[in-house]
Amino acid sequence: MADFDLVVIGSGPAGEQGAAHAARLGKRVAVVEREPVLGGTAANTGTLPSKTLRETALYLSGYRARGLFGIETTLRREATVSDLLYRERRVKVVERERITMNLERHGVEVVQGHGSFLDAHTVLVRREGHPERRLTAGSILIATGSSPYRPPLYPFGDPRVHDSDELLELAELPRALMVVGAGVIGCEYACMFAALGIPVTLVDVKPELLSFLDDEFSGLLRERMVALGVTMRLGYSVESIHVPEKNAEPIRLTLSGGDVLEVDQVLVASGRSANTSGLGLEAVGIKPGQRGHLEVGPTYQTAVPHIYAVGDVIGFPALASTAMEQARVAVLHAFGKAQALAPVLPYGIYTIPEVSMAGETEKALIAKGVPYVVGRAGYITNARGQIIGEGRGQLKLLFHRESLKLLGVHVLGEQASELVHIGLVALVSGAGAQLFVETCFNYPTLSEMYKTATYNALQELNGSSSNFLP
Ligand code: FAD
Repeated sequence: MADFDLVVIGSGPAGEQGAAHAARLGKRVAVVEREPVLGGTAANTGTLPSKTLRETALYLSGYRARGLFGIETTLRREATVSDLLYRERRVKVVERERITMNLERHGVEVVQGHGSFLDAHTVLVRREGHPERRLTAGSILIATGSSPYRPPLYPFGDPRVHDSDELLELAELPRALMVVGAGVIGCEYACMFAALGIPVTLVDVKPELLSFLDDEFSGLLRERMVALGVTMRLGYSVESIHVPEKNAEPIRLTLSGGDVLEVDQVLVASGRSANTSGLGLEAVGIKPGQRGHLEVGPTYQTAVPHIYAVGDVIGFPALASTAMEQARVAVLHAFGKAQALAPVLPYGIYTIPEVSMAGETEKALIAKGVPYVVGRAGYITNARGQIIGEGRGQLKLLFHRESLKLLGVHVLGEQASELVHIGLVALVSGAGAQLFVETCFNYPTLSEMYKTATYNALQELNGSSSNFLP
């Protein structure tokens, strides 16, 4: 008999949730983690640290007060690196403790060390100074996550050139920052430093910002980021970089087209590579693809049916939220309880302002030939929006033109990543305009915008919102 029903490699959100789900089914579970701390990218270098830094930047810059009191760009006080990182370090510690306790509570054995396959049912765990362990299991879940991709152009050994992990070890705040890569991570950090009053230039070869967003919201975000102080150089690539030996001299980056930009620090956010090297996948016949990603089927089985892979190691969308959901589906499948993935996955982008979406974009509906009607509500016409001073946010709902079922929800503004969930639940349950009209919302709340946007769509349909609904 195998030592465990399930061995999980990696303790990020995918590994933690996968292990906990299996334990809830009464299975014997081990989690192998190579780092001395649990939690992976989400707890230690990615999601939580960056969101905590964002809150800190908003606080230190007095950003939220600007809309209330009309103060434009004055910093509440000069931010130092230790101001910026103090809370990030505390939040990380608390989250690691939470994960440790969660795994303990579920009776999951945590084995520290680097895991690799010896054969299709055995994971070898190596840790310096400790004897090797061989863990056998009926099923294995690969949840090894990803690491920042480091394009060879950049001299990462230099303390002024960072990837997103190294940014958390900043020695001093930049006087002028170049962010290379306008994906989610690049945009979020660009906003954060701009909110602190630091001049930021964002460079990306793609001409549009976050192309998976609704076009209108991608454009709105771009406008807001520019207003915050981010200089956009979209449609350009960095051709060369010169980092002088003396810290006092600027770093020079030459863009396609020949412009030379000078900054004192650079953040390279050029995507991520899956953590699959050193996993011994050749021993089981699994071949990683581009940037090390593993290919899986709809139930997250790899080419070897009892070996599953979830989270960043399988690539897009590479979010903590989806990693946890994928882990749930994989583990239930492994133990004979087939479950489908949540039918709609939300996106939360913690730029300043936040943007969030679930369901379809207008572009996708047009491409599919689905008739739709748009309903909008501005934060400015919402009482709570007025109170919190968020004058430029927007909620946009896309309804099916005939059935009035909700097809998509897009929010830009304060609390967008929370607000989207009302729409998300409506999407998952197949609800639409009627639900929003007949629901009594707290007043004053941002959530009321769902009602306003619904009436707006109804008005758009027949010139008047009255007597439209059955
Ligand atoms: P990870 O969290 O990367 O965990 C993998 C774990 O496996 C690590 O602990 C690693 O040490 C371990 N491991 C790897 N190889 C081995 C091995 N051979 N043996 C033992 N252990 C091993 N997502 C969101 O949903 N919302 C956000 O706001 C968000 N913001 C982000 C901001 C930044 C700056 C970054 C970088 C990411 C952000 N993400 C966000 C993405 C999110 O962090 C990842 O999608 C998520 O952490 C992936 O979870 P995972 O469990 O697949 O992998």
